[in-house]
Amino acid sequence: MVSAHTRAYYHAGGVLKKVHPEEPRDVWFFRVRDMEPPYAGNVDPDMANRDTMTIFINYRVLDYQGRFLGATGVGITVGAVKSLIEHYQERFGRTVYFTDGQGQVVLHGARYRGAASLDQRPGLAPHLPQLLKTNEYSAEFSEEGGTVLLNARYIPELKWVLVVEESPEDILRGFRSTLQANLAICALVTLLVVLLNRKTVHYFHDKLAGMALRDDLTGAANRRSFAIYFAQLAAQARRQPEDLSVLLMDLDDFKSINDQHGHLVGDLVLKQVAAHVKAHIRDWDVLCRWGGEEFLVLLKGAGLGQATAIAEQLRQGLATARFGQEPAAITVTMSIGVAQYRPGDSESGLVGRADDALYRAKAGGRNRVEALAA
Ligand code: GH3
Ligand code: MG
Ligand code: MG
Repeated sequence: MVSAHTRAYYHAGGVLKKVHPEEPRDVWFFRVRDMEPPYAGNVDPDMANRDTMTIFINYRVLDYQGRFLGATGVGITVGAVKSLIEHYQERFGRTVYFTDGQGQVVLHGARYRGAASLDQRPGLAPHLPQLLKTNEYSAEFSEEGGTVLLNARYIPELKWVLVVEESPEDILRGFRSTLQANLAICALVTLLVVLLNRKTVHYFHDKLAGMALRDDLTGAANRRSFAIYFAQLAAQARRQPEDLSVLLMDLDDFKSINDQHGHLVGDLVLKQVAAHVKAHIRDWDVLCRWGGEEFLVLLKGAGLGQATAIAEQLRQGLATARFGQEPAAITVTMSIGVAQYRPGDSESGLVGRADDALYRAKAGGRNRVEALAA
């Protein structure tokens, strides 16, 4: 602030000096004193700041009667503006500069590579008259084979025009690298999810296969997995009719084996019987432990006659085998009920008929095969 009355130059640090009309560095004050507009911008060395080039905006300070009391100014060093420009350019990938009213570039950052006078830039020159005349101006022009988008705005305090230029190629380059990074992250995450999925599926698969679908004692399929097999085969049979039969086997007088040899030996015999039956059916037939000493065999591709024949062989084979601890000496027989799958049969319908046949085999004296006519 410079007082018109005392001509003292007040600064944050105190009174700096007295201004004088003959002193070249003080002419700004007398210019502001005599000018019409309430304020004006100019670029001058700042005496209060080691003469660094500074953009000043100086205001006329008046009393209530409109008499001139003095001038007050705010300044920002050109260096600070330059570093602001640099920062902005770095961050947003744009070129920023100021021109004066004649199109001369007065202030720019390191990125500006154009001519010092805008009329020297052939692509831009046709836009120059409009750019310098209007408050806001936008244009698109070509320069050195690329497109340049330009935005300009007149800054009345400085009588300068702020120009921002950007090239769509630069913008796209930024987007492209962001896109690539995102795609890479996406691929990585997808891979991770796929791997985790596989691990989880395998884990549960193994668990189910090992635990839930097999009988602990004999290793044969259990009732739950029989239901799965049956549903699969029934669905297949609907598409392509095929013979399918079941054998329901029940060991005869098994209670007496437990009574004579103990429950543990009874367990061993059950295990051995299961292995024996498994060894004497085809690979694609399914052996299932149905209950305590009851087994069920699912025979694929076998009609009632063939299934009955297989049952008979199994019955005879078991009767002649020996079971128990070494030396194995226990004989065991079984009764078998045979039933054939009918289209539309439920699991319980089919097994129920096999059970009826088994009942007949038991009633008929045990160690026999009975088939229920289809
Ligand atoms: P039948 O079938 O000829 O009428 O006589 P059964 O004695 O075999 O029939 P029942 O159903 O009366 O008895 C079955 C016996 O099988 C009873 C039980 O002690 C025995 N059992 C069932 N499950 C097991 C098992 O897991 N281990 C052993 N050791 N014995 C079992
Ligand atoms: Mg039984
Ligand atoms: Mg029994």
